[in-house]
Amino acid sequence: MSRRLELALEASGVGVWQLHPEKKRLIWDNRMGEIFGLGPESTTLGYDQFRERVHPDDIAEVEQALTAAIESRRKLVGQFRISTPSGETRIIRAYGVTHIMPDGERVVIGANWDVTKDILLQEELREAEERARNQNQELEAARNDLEFQALHDPLTGLPNRRYVERFIERLKATPATERKPIACIHIDLDRFKEVNDTAGHNVGDAVLRSISQVLVSLSNSACFLARIGGDEFVIFIQAANAGELASEIGASIVTRVAKPISADGREWRLGASVGIAVQDTSCDISQLIADADIALYEAKKRGKGRVRLYTPTLRSEFVTSRQLADEILAAIEQDQFVPFFQPQFDAKSLEIVGAEALVRWNHPERGLISPAAFLPVAEKIGKLCAIDEIILTKSLDAVRKFEVEGFKLPRVSVNVSAQRLREESFLSKLSSLRFNPGSLSFELLESISFDEEDHALSKAIESVRGMGIELEIDDFGTGHASLVSLIELAPHRLKIDRKLVKPLATSNSQRKLISSVVDIARSMDIGVVAEGVETFEQIEILRALGCSTLQGFRLAKPMPESEVVRFALGRGWMP
Ligand code: C2E
Ligand code: CA
Ligand code: CA
Repeated sequence: MSRRLELALEASGVGVWQLHPEKKRLIWDNRMGEIFGLGPESTTLGYDQFRERVHPDDIAEVEQALTAAIESRRKLVGQFRISTPSGETRIIRAYGVTHIMPDGERVVIGANWDVTKDILLQEELREAEERARNQNQELEAARNDLEFQALHDPLTGLPNRRYVERFIERLKATPATERKPIACIHIDLDRFKEVNDTAGHNVGDAVLRSISQVLVSLSNSACFLARIGGDEFVIFIQAANAGELASEIGASIVTRVAKPISADGREWRLGASVGIAVQDTSCDISQLIADADIALYEAKKRGKGRVRLYTPTLRSEFVTSRQLADEILAAIEQDQFVPFFQPQFDAKSLEIVGAEALVRWNHPERGLISPAAFLPVAEKIGKLCAIDEIILTKSLDAVRKFEVEGFKLPRVSVNVSAQRLREESFLSKLSSLRFNPGSLSFELLESISFDEEDHALSKAIESVRGMGIELEIDDFGTGHASLVSLIELAPHRLKIDRKLVKPLATSNSQRKLISSVVDIARSMDIGVVAEGVETFEQIEILRALGCSTLQGFRLAKPMPESEVVRFALGRGWMP
């Protein structure tokens, strides 16, 4: 028995001891000596020698356990630290039982074994686990962070396009019975590009931030607002009365954004165009977005600062203008835009003093197309400036040809769109042109907002003047520009719109109006061109009112380049 026990103890590294508490004597076996690092020969030692080895922080607990075990004869189970004479710390597990000897002495017999490695391992495991947990938390936080960044626009903090996609996916996954009517408001800022171009990107950013705050303040809890492009925002509204809400919010956006926006310590005037589409519970969200897009497109086409609600007729209009847009791009490439020339006459002598170049689309299948049919779409797709440039170049070429063929056209006027004036390369392109000073004139639409403080615009206009190009205000009397701002521009001529010329013969008040415009202009040394002169009567009245130049079907219709010289030399218009 004893040998078998010895074998088991040796294999397990368990040391056995026996404590005589009253005698303060401790007897232990060789393995105990090894466990305590005291060597195998220390088989009998005083209790104090044991106590010395126990970690000071653990002594109280050890002794309490011992006393309890001795007094109550309960089993002793515990764990404590010791330090070996060489300074190593070990963790010892203890198990003991109290016996009462025949002579009444109490003796505790117990076993110790070294669990340092197990405990360290456990601790390491726990630490590793803790580390892993912390790392997981960090990872989770980073993931949340990344996700937030991925779904939000850093400039405004609003949800971005990706978030919108996710929002849509979630909507699609909603069971049909739980869906509410939904409206989509698509918002595009007017004139934002100009702010960005003239004042710089920092100001542009500040403006965008201010506007996004405006949009946030106009949204409510039924709204999901996102920034989906440079100056484009979208709001989805889910509510029983989504359509009504969308119209209200859309209208307030247009009103509010039209007011001055403060950013970068200044006030900026922008505007917003809004397209709205609504769907009841039959939710085809991609369709909804496409519809709102079309409504926005139409809102912009009809002039800025408008709200348009999608209707099926809008779609067919839209499809045709999309086709037209593609055709315009092809026509530019295939050189199908040509100038027609409408001569202008001195009001007194009726001699030709110039000609206005007017674009025509020489379409291979549909023949000549007039500007009203394609210019609005060309403007929308940003190609108006390209067309203006083509007409300018071709007109100057034509004028040189006329001279070779025996007719010197004193001056050619070309129409210059706002788009062209603001084109970055505008001035550098002009400087490469050949023309005599005074022989080229630019017609600027009155509707180009000269009223606003716009440094880029005034700089462009000054440079144009500096190149010896004359300036005319086109369609005078139809826009809202103040006479004062026009006079500040100091144009060479005003062109009175044909709407004002038409009622001349019948309306006294119209005559008075034109008369006073002519008076003011003459006093400032500004010429007056009357457009749309269709009758001889009109010619006589305009002449009498002091109008300097006449243009209209009565004297000459716009004609192709090939007919100008024959017309001019033929003098068929003379009475
Ligand atoms: P606009 O500059 O006011 O040009 C005058 C328009 O009045 C021309 O129409 C001309 O054909 C028409 N017209 C001239 N005399 C009479 C008349 O006695 N009676 C009537 N009823 N009409 C007359 P068009 O050629 O169709 O041009 C329309 C508009 O398109 C032009 O108005 C101008 O704003 C724009 N446009 C034409 N060519 C160009 C161009 O090259 N660039 C740009 N940006 N716009 C252009
Ligand atoms: Ca014109
Ligand atoms: Ca005009």
